[in-house]
Formats: sequence, structure tokens, C-alpha cells
Amino acid sequence: MNSHYPPSWYADSAPQLAPLPTLQGNISADVCVVGGGYTGLSTALHLRQLGFSVALLEANRVAWGASGRNGGHVGTGQRADQATLEKMVGHERASRLWQLSLDAVALVEDLCQQFAIDCELGTGNLHLAAKRAHIGELEEEVHHLRQQYGYEHIEFLDQQAVAQRTSAQGVYAGVLDRGARHLHPLKYALGLARAALSLGSDIYEHSRVKHYRTSDQKVIVSTDQGQVRCSYLVLACNGYLGGLENRIAGNIMPINNFMIATEPLSEALADQVNRDRLSLSDTLFVINYWKLSADRRMLFGGGETYSSRFPSDIKNFVRPYMLQLYPELADVAITHGWGGTLGITLNRMPDFGRIDKHTFYAQGFSGHGVPTATFAGKLLASAIHGDCTDFDLMAAVPTRGFPGGTLLRWPGLVAGMLFYSLLDRWGR
Ligand SMILES: Cc1cc2nc3c(=O)[nH]c(=O)nc-3n(C[C@H](O)[C@H](O)[C@H](O)COP(=O)(O)OP(=O)(O)OC[C@H]3O[C@@H](n4cnc5c(N)ncnc54)[C@H](O)[C@@H]3O)c2cc1C
Repeated sequence: MNSHYPPSWYADSAPQLAPLPTLQGNISADVCVVGGGYTGLSTALHLRQLGFSVALLEANRVAWGASGRNGGHVGTGQRADQATLEKMVGHERASRLWQLSLDAVALVEDLCQQFAIDCELGTGNLHLAAKRAHIGELEEEVHHLRQQYGYEHIEFLDQQAVAQRTSAQGVYAGVLDRGARHLHPLKYALGLARAALSLGSDIYEHSRVKHYRTSDQKVIVSTDQGQVRCSYLVLACNGYLGGLENRIAGNIMPINNFMIATEPLSEALADQVNRDRLSLSDTLFVINYWKLSADRRMLFGGGETYSSRFPSDIKNFVRPYMLQLYPELADVAITHGWGGTLGITLNRMPDFGRIDKHTFYAQGFSGHGVPTATFAGKLLASAIHGDCTDFDLMAAVPTRGFPGGTLLRWPGLVAGMLFYSLLDRWGR
């Protein structure tokens, strides 16, 4: 078991990163990055490549947050679909956003290659229609991406073609995206940390930022035991931002999502549930997502909560979602159950921006952070270096704050989420 990580199959299977120091005393750096998930680590890595000195402060251990606990799906596209984006920002900008999403997946792959990150990188995602009514939408989306964007890695599969690839029950069609990837999220995050360290980033663990203040020239960032004096600050805290910066906290809503891991499946059962070792997901509002680990465990995510508490028995909270799709797994032992917190936005597009000329942030990846948060780090670093083109393109996508801001966003959101999750159960 990896110490100081929440118990999960990922923590049990990733090689440990030796503990990093806690910030003590006063230091200076060109840039201080707050948060050691994909956003923060990728920012640090790319800043070092551009020649900036970096101090990254992580409240817990590196990748303690969502980056060490997620489903590991590396999807193409933005979290909002292209037709929605076209309505939101027009065709030309939507096309550029599509290209950035492909660049994000390519970046994940490049980083794994460049820094020899061994994270069980696999290929292909199969997205399944969980309701008959969704078949047409999937078909249309494939047509749209092939015709309008020339994206040829995507294919519509009817129910029979789906059944050849997975024994999932109650699904009606699917979209196979050969451009998508999947990986072991904690191995990937720790690989990014090792890469950032190898390039000379200073990373401090157990160094929670309590507050910061900005003057005309500098930012002073304070933890309990030290301070960083810097020219730029990057906030990369996502669902764990808490009360650190109220000017951006109301743009996102922290929600909890949960996963289980089974004991390793036999080769035959693994082939039955996932012949081609794809990542899989469905079209429900509270999405189910799953894949097999390299040692053939079913890693299954499903179920959400909107309060600060996790269910007391996560294994039995998630298991029914898995059994609805794969009743044949009823006798397979669940060895791990865990949850994590992610930041979502109202329109599911990430929230990039500047608070002032020193302070940048990226958050609200809405369940699409493996590629997008990694890419956000590259764009944050480029923006600090003076090339803001793609950062500004992302920042210009309208994301409205949640009604009620930081204080009153809960009741409206919870009512909305519960309404849509109820729709999941109707009309299948
Ligand atoms: C269960 C689950 C499944 C998911 N599945 C997928 C998936 O399959 N594919 C996908 O693309 N996305 C998925 N996501 C979303 C994805 O994990 C996130 O979007 C992504 O990890 C965000 O990275 P991040 O670096 O912005 O935030 P995080 O990884 O959450 O990192 C934020 C860090 O900031 C630190 N921090 C917070 N406040 C402070 C402070 N004051 N001082 C210092 N440090 C601080 C926290 O300790 C934390 O480590 C999933 C999320 C969850 C929870």
C-alpha cells in the first residue's frame, strides 16, 4: 500500500514516488504552481522546458487528488460535443477546439514516450447507447465528425457489432473511437511528477497554500511553514480548491465520483466483457465507465454524490451499476472501492482564465481531465511565456458561474443533478 494515498487499486499497483520535502522557510521562483495533479505537474514540466524556475506546492502527496483516482479514459473531443460547441462559439472556433482536443490526446502519448512513463497505455474507446433513443444521436455524431472534421478513426456500431466486442447488457449501439487512449492514471501522474523533477522543478508535498497576496511586482504565497515569492502564480486545484480563491470557486462545482476494482478475471471472462481491451462508457447522464487493468481486473466507475461525504460502503454503492451491465460478474470479488472529487462547470467546458496579470488558473475539466488538464498545463506555461493564443481560445469559451456563487450553488445543482439522474432510469 502506498502511504498517504487514499486506498485504491491504483495506489496498490503504482510504484511509489519517494516522499518529497515540505516547504520550510522562504524561497523564490519565477512561477509558483498550487496543486500537484495533471494540471499542476504538466504546467511545471512545460515551464521548465521553457526555462522558468518552478516551485510546485501540493497539500497532500503528488496526484493525491482526482489525477490519482480516475477512470483513466483519454477521450478525443472536448467534454461538450462538437454540435453544441458550434452553437456556442461558431464553426471556426469549434474546429480549432476540436483540433486542440486531438493535440491533447497526442500530448499525453508524447509525454509517455518522451519520459518513458509506463502507465499501461491502451487504445480505443467504445461509447454505448444506454437507451434506444440515443442510437440516432450517436449515429449523427459519427456522421458529423467524419463529414465536417474529416475524423476517420470513429465508427458507428450497431447492436450486433457491439455484442461481438462486449457482453454488456441493455445497450443498443455504440461508437468506436480508435483515436482515444486509456491508461493507469496514478502511474501516469507519478510519471509526470518524475519528469517534472528530472527537468529541475522543485516540488513540495504536504505544503497546503493557506493564502497569497499580490503586489504590483510579485506574488507571495504562504503555507504554514514557508513562503514562495514569485512573479506568476498558477492555481491548479480543481475540485479541491475549497476557499483558497473565491473569485473562481463559484465557476465550478465539486462533485464526487466512485470506482471499484475486481479481482483479476479469467482470460475467458475478460475476453467476454471486453474482447479488444478498450475503454468503455455509456450515454447515461451519470455515466458508467470501465476498462480492464493490465492484470485483467474490471475497473468500473459509476454513481455520483453531491455532498462533501462519500458513501460508507463504496464497493456496494458502485457494484449494482456494474452488475446491471455484466450480471456474469456477480460471483467476482470486489477488492477495492474508492472515490474522488472533480470540478464540473455548467456547460461542461473547462474554465481557463487570469485573475490578474500574475495569476492564471485552469479547472472544471468535468470528467475529461486526463487529456484536457495535461494540455491545460502546456497552455498555461505557454501563456506565461507570452504565447496566449490557445490559452485565450480556451478561456474565451463562455462558462457561466453557478447561480448563487460559492454559497448558494448547492441546492440548485443538487436538484438539477438528481432530476437528470432520475431520467437515466426512464425510457430505456
Ligand atoms: C472517480 C473519477 C473518475 C474520473 N474519470 C476520468 C476519466 O476516465 N477520464 C478523464 O479524462 N477524467 C476523469 N476524471 C476527471 C479527472 O480525474 C480530473 O479532471 C483531473 O484529474 C483534474 O486534474 P487536476 O490536476 O486539475 O486536479 P486534481 O488531480 O484534483 O489535483 C488538484 C490538487 O490540488 C491540491 N490542492 C488543492 N488545494 C490546495 C492548496 N490550497 N494547496 C496546495 N495544494 C492544493 C489537491 O491536494 C490535489 O492534489 C475522473 C475523476 C474522478 C474523481
